[in-house]
Amino acid sequence: MSEFERMLLGFSANVAKAMEHGDSDYLENGLVHCGKCHTPKQANITIGENSAIVWCLCKCAEEQQKREDAERHAAMRKAESDRNRQSMICDRKLLGATFEGSTPSARDTHAFKVCEKYCDKWQEVKENSYGLYIYGNPGCGKTFLTACMANRLIDGGERVLMTSLPRIINDIFAAEDKNAVIRRAVSVPLLILDDFGTEQQSAYNMSQVYRIIDDRYNANKPLIITSNIDFDQIVRPQNVQQKQIYSRIVDMCTPVKVEGAWRMRQGMQKSKELHDLLGV
Ligand SMILES: [Zn+2]
Repeated sequence: MSEFERMLLGFSANVAKAMEHGDSDYLENGLVHCGKCHTPKQANITIGENSAIVWCLCKCAEEQQKREDAERHAAMRKAESDRNRQSMICDRKLLGATFEGSTPSARDTHAFKVCEKYCDKWQEVKENSYGLYIYGNPGCGKTFLTACMANRLIDGGERVLMTSLPRIINDIFAAEDKNAVIRRAVSVPLLILDDFGTEQQSAYNMSQVYRIIDDRYNANKPLIITSNIDFDQIVRPQNVQQKQIYSRIVDMCTPVKVEGAWRMRQGMQKSKELHDLLGV
């Protein structure tokens, strides 16, 4: 095949699409033109002494092709994100948590904004390895809020592992290659440790916790922690092991308090309703 023929073949890659013609197509200057966008569907090319008419995409067919390509890429990205989400967010209940589907109480608007901005500024956050310590009473919504962040970042194509320390400790305990579990938690671009402080504080558990947090600190990778433990307690550790871990957390994470006032109010309202109903 000559170079010229190869080029023709390249030009004609979209020939089937280009040749689909509508009733309104017409001939002008010896070339077929699209009746819709009035741009040519054929081109006259000359290379050296050779010349030929080849099919090409008119403007509207080219735009349609671009739209189809974009849709195909978006579908591929979504499938990839969904695969990531399934394997990286350990609690199934949190797979659907989104900022869009949430309305924070007035007292938590600030926390919501901080978390949303954290995602918006992710590249800068990642480069500087900024972490968050999101804390509040049990049931205040901190886990849900953090899952909104995980899902937003995963949708953007990032790898985020959201798990808890008891889960990681169980995984390490059960795994043949224990280092592989730790390597995964250390190497992922964002690690979220949910419900920090609920794990049993045995010496072994604490050493694993410290290893993961310390390795991320040394690798300059961000960490997000959610916890019931007030940040005041984090800055005042009670023993040597806590001191080791907590000082790393203070170095790596900025505190964000979630009040969860709406849930508390809702709970109090329910309790009042029950009182009224049962007369207790
Ligand atoms: Zn057209």
